[in-house]
Amino acid sequence: MANTVLARKWRPKKFADLIGQQTAVTVLNNILKNHRMHHAYLLTGTRGVGKTTIARIIARALNCTDLQINEPCGACKNCVDIDKGNFVDVIEIDAASNTGVDNIRELIDNAGYAPTMGKYKVYIIDEVHMLSKSAFNAMLKTLEEPPLHAVFILATTDLQKVPVTILSRCLQLKLRNLLPPEIATHLASILKQENISFENEALNVIAHTAYGSMRDALSITDQAIAYTNNIINLADIKTMLGITDDEFIYTLLDTINEQNSSKLTVIATDIYNQGCDLENVLLKLNQILCNISLVQLGGLDEERLKFYANCFSINDVQLYFEITNLGLEQIVKGNNKFQVFIMTLLRIAAFTIGSNNDKQAIINSRNQAPAPNLAITEETATPKFESNLVQPATLISNTPIIPPFVLDTKNSSPVQATITITESFCPQVKQFDGDWIALIEELENKLDKAIHPVLANAKFNSYANKQFNLIVDNKYESAVNASLIHNISKIFSEYFGYTVTFDLQFSENVGATLKEKRNTEKEEKQKIAEEAIKNDANLIKMQQLFSATIVPNSIKPI
Ligand SMILES: [Zn+2]
Repeated sequence: MANTVLARKWRPKKFADLIGQQTAVTVLNNILKNHRMHHAYLLTGTRGVGKTTIARIIARALNCTDLQINEPCGACKNCVDIDKGNFVDVIEIDAASNTGVDNIRELIDNAGYAPTMGKYKVYIIDEVHMLSKSAFNAMLKTLEEPPLHAVFILATTDLQKVPVTILSRCLQLKLRNLLPPEIATHLASILKQENISFENEALNVIAHTAYGSMRDALSITDQAIAYTNNIINLADIKTMLGITDDEFIYTLLDTINEQNSSKLTVIATDIYNQGCDLENVLLKLNQILCNISLVQLGGLDEERLKFYANCFSINDVQLYFEITNLGLEQIVKGNNKFQVFIMTLLRIAAFTIGSNNDKQAIINSRNQAPAPNLAITEETATPKFESNLVQPATLISNTPIIPPFVLDTKNSSPVQATITITESFCPQVKQFDGDWIALIEELENKLDKAIHPVLANAKFNSYANKQFNLIVDNKYESAVNASLIHNISKIFSEYFGYTVTFDLQFSENVGATLKEKRNTEKEEKQKIAEEAIKNDANLIKMQQLFSATIVPNSIKPI
């Protein structure tokens, strides 16, 4: 983003004016106070956080003829000239466009000469990581033995690409991303001084959109002043930035939760038809998923998100987050934004009902392949639009969207309950292996007097999407209520390490229950005992001698 009117006008001229970089400022203040000047600095941080601004303030502080308390005066000739870019001893180069060794060699040869006007020759090299290897090598010699009058201030957005040999010779100052409230407060102060009216909410939106970069925030504010005719208001800013109402996102989440893919495509098309920035919608969904995950792990307390934190398991939210990440990577690349958008949502829907193995597969493949091989074909699930123009919503009914998977949206259970469990950061997650009887036997000591008979008389019907579907002997129907189901869910959720739900239906002569298994076992034991008694030689003798008979049902297995 190019330098903008506001960014230029309000560029901080002294350390005290810098927003949000207190750590770096304290270090620099101490250096100036103690006259312990370093000859090489490396400023790191993302774009627009103030790296070149700080570099210029350092240059001014070094050459100011009337240094105030650790701050350049801003008024002397040197300060003014540096500010205007007219000071010969402050040399700024952009390594992105001067990557070669020749540029650096020329610069370094020059460093040997004494400054012409000021006390120090200051070399500000922006985006230093872009230099070639030979250029870095050429610079290294000078950094090893810098001329006393030369100071190098290197700035980079990509620390990893700066050779260690260079890093070790620099005093490194990390500039952090600015927080949205810091940006919003600063914008408000500037706009007040510019006599431009604004709504705080609008500034909050700008601050969030700027992703920690004050320069971007000021650039957006420049646009906003023009766009809104000097009254910066929320509605216009949202339109200008193509920002989706959060309500859309919650509707999408509700529909994902309902596992209703056809409704999902209708809503997605509606979002498109309203002219929303689809990339922005995906990004917002991605952010909200991240926040839901934080709520699930206890790192965030947001009332509205708690509902979704309960609807989806931790693993599901992780998966949806990965799917939206993938969608975001793809949506910025192509002209098929709508297709990517809708496919991303359908992918989430597909995996909401998919097996756990499918889900693990996508998470595993995420780092290896750019696009996991998903069982959805774009041809079948993408509405065909003839142009990129916004299409009327009525088109949807003409182009029915039939996903190649069937969503099970039936909800026939008489009682359902969803519960939340507290999960540790790395929960011990278990999978249901399909053996219902073994499962309740394992959990038997956790089942109280109310729950035990119900589950012991329940036949396993199905398990999908972390929901057990059981058929319970209808003799126990009156014993089942929402509270009981809640308690069952709680016990099993704690066991599995994620929320599972229960759907109970009732029937006669259920069969295949724990009770039946126990009865069969008992009968078998009885049979064995009776056989053993009948064939006991001593007993046979007694029967013969005393005409004794065995009292029916008196034989008990040991
Ligand atoms: Zn000065």
